[in-house]
Amino acid sequence: MSSEQQHLFELEPPAWEADDASEQLVAAIVLSSGPEQTFDYLVPEEMRSLIEPGHRVQAPFGKSNRLVVGYCVALATGPAQGRRLKKLDSLVDERALLSPAILELARWMADYYLCPLGQVLESVLPAGVRQQAGTRLATLLSVPTEVAARVTQLDLSDKQLRVLLYLAASPQALTLKQLAYGAKCSAGIIAALRKKGLIRSEARRIDTSEYVDPLVEHEEHFEPNADQRVALDSVLGLIHSGQHGTALIHGVTGSGKTEVYIQAIQEVIGFGRQAIVLVPEISLTPQAQQRFRSRFGRVAVLHSHMTDVERHRHWERIAGGDVSVVVGARSAVFAPTPNLGLVIFDEEHEGSFKQDTAPRYHARDVALQRCRHENVPLVLGSATPSLESWRRAQQGEFKLISMPRRVFNRPLPAVGTIDLRSEFRDRRSRGAISRQMHIAMEQVLKDNGQVILLLNRRGFATHVQCPGCGFVLKCPECQMALTHHQAEHRVICHHCDHHEQPPHACPQCQFPGMRYSGIGTQKLEAEVRARFPEHPCLRMDTDTMQRPGSHERALKAFHDGQVRILLGTQMIAKGLDFPNVLLVGVINADTALHLPDFRAAERTFQLVTQVAGRTGRGAQGGRVLVQTFSPEHPAIEAAVRHDFQRFADCELPVREALMYPPYASMVRIIVRGSLEEPTLAYATTIADQLKAAIDAANVPFRILGPAPAPIHKLRNLFRFHLQCQSPESAALREAVRSLAGSLKPADEVQWIADVDPLDMM
Ligand code: ADP
Ligand code: ZN
Repeated sequence: MSSEQQHLFELEPPAWEADDASEQLVAAIVLSSGPEQTFDYLVPEEMRSLIEPGHRVQAPFGKSNRLVVGYCVALATGPAQGRRLKKLDSLVDERALLSPAILELARWMADYYLCPLGQVLESVLPAGVRQQAGTRLATLLSVPTEVAARVTQLDLSDKQLRVLLYLAASPQALTLKQLAYGAKCSAGIIAALRKKGLIRSEARRIDTSEYVDPLVEHEEHFEPNADQRVALDSVLGLIHSGQHGTALIHGVTGSGKTEVYIQAIQEVIGFGRQAIVLVPEISLTPQAQQRFRSRFGRVAVLHSHMTDVERHRHWERIAGGDVSVVVGARSAVFAPTPNLGLVIFDEEHEGSFKQDTAPRYHARDVALQRCRHENVPLVLGSATPSLESWRRAQQGEFKLISMPRRVFNRPLPAVGTIDLRSEFRDRRSRGAISRQMHIAMEQVLKDNGQVILLLNRRGFATHVQCPGCGFVLKCPECQMALTHHQAEHRVICHHCDHHEQPPHACPQCQFPGMRYSGIGTQKLEAEVRARFPEHPCLRMDTDTMQRPGSHERALKAFHDGQVRILLGTQMIAKGLDFPNVLLVGVINADTALHLPDFRAAERTFQLVTQVAGRTGRGAQGGRVLVQTFSPEHPAIEAAVRHDFQRFADCELPVREALMYPPYASMVRIIVRGSLEEPTLAYATTIADQLKAAIDAANVPFRILGPAPAPIHKLRNLFRFHLQCQSPESAALREAVRSLAGSLKPADEVQWIADVDPLDMM
């Protein structure tokens, strides 16, 4: 309760009550929008026994005392101390929507992600819950016990007596309509009874419909194989320790990780606790849902296509302890489980676990925090762990569990590369599909197999590359790929703003004619149809998969064999498990490799490894062909060998040398505005003030920029960014926080800070 807030109250007109009582209950309130600080209010007498931290309240605010909605985040009893506070008006919900644990988590998020607490709370509670979707306020009628005891002694008409007896006999309170219908009486009779004080009425929220769990067949456990046994014992060890601990399961695709999760969950449920399973939204296929539902009866699946009503209903079931397992994407990390026992985080390296609007949280880091607070284990799993988690495992902070083999010792698919440099030099190929790839596809289709072709969606960034030797134009300052800006005919570094004229010939091999553009999935689809007109082909990317259900329909068509060639973006790289896929082709592994993003190599490694995991699932085996201009790149070489360790060993020293995560924290600041010059000027001011602030903290740091963001103009706004790095996370965040106080707001220029950014575009 800062002096600033008290000051604010003293300036306002006296809507408060003078309070001489020595003990008063004061509620600290944050608003869901508007001013960011905490405001103190007096809790009125009748609310004292009801209010808890986590309740939403209505409070008079400002000079006009208009009612605003806020969250009670703390309560304190104490002497008045001469403070005169306004009184809370009312409670919005019957019970606190936020448990102390979730409230604590939200506080941590506000602090860590540099975001107002009110805004964090709004995103922690689903909109459907806040709006109480699917419920309505009803007046419920009942007969007080003391009235019921002497009904026959009352002076009532026959009709009145009949109605009163009917209501007294009802096991639950009834609405006016229910009573009038059930007792076959008019509203007038009920009103008369209420007037006499014989019927009590109460306003309460009631459900407008009932949730029914889908019926599923029960499936038996698999007997764990040796690797699964070791992994499971390790996780059970954590569970039985009764303490928080994090395990990182590094298991190749198809090693049976999910089965380990399921059996660990079984254990926790046995103690009457709940488990939360986080998976990427894209992996929430009906098959995956079925897998959990068939093992555990009481499962809530949370996904983005849910209506507010459904979401609210699931939330209530979870909060009521009616659900054993919650399976969901990012926001399921806030599931209000009353007695959490375990959190599982599958595909922990996935970028979709980071929210790209405020609060820009990463669900894995929030889960870690939550598990620490609630003293429960966290299990992370991936075939390609993030280097952040990998390093923590290397340092002993996470327990590393290795599952290096597929179940039944199925071999991992053979991965070969196709060198696009020679393809181009010899002019053997036209289009995106090389001669070798074409021949392999032909063969597989002839054998009645299916083909998956991957072309990375992020191919829009036009890096400059020599088709002769594969050389990519890089920034001399930061070793990031330079981006071609067609309008100005310049190549620019999106990190430090270095720019130059694009060369006419390759600086390395003098090949005349650098290439500027990539190809998109749409163009690839046309090429595939032209090359293989007799084989049905389907494109899956964010453009074609807009409508709800389209994803499932596409996968079903592929599963049923109606579609022979599935092509798409990284959307198709995950989770698909089709035994008839005999060939996976990566059209250009380099598109992700040369993005102006320090995680470019990591993403490429992950993508190639994940997509390679889509084949070799059946008895017929499978192979992978990767088209690339840089077959000798460490990320590609390691992916070809299915060798995560090798990749990590190559990549980590680079990160360390350049003070990148996981060796340092990063905050990315994005400044945007409608006019280019003032926006850049503002970004420069931010950079200067930030440098001064962090310099004063006396910690090592690096600030790159301001530079134009790779997506320099978005929705008519110019974007500049700063990349701020320091091994001292707290000092770095503190420096950014201090900007809010020292920066003058500018007209039409906004800035945001992204802590631990994943998106560098
Ligand atoms: P991951 O999650 O590591 O990719 P999954 O758990 O999906 O692997 O397992 C791959 C396949 O192997 C699944 O079809 C699963 O049903 C099957 N499987 C897993 N464990 C066993 C086991 N112990 N015995 C037989 N089949 C298993
Ligand atoms: Zn640079």
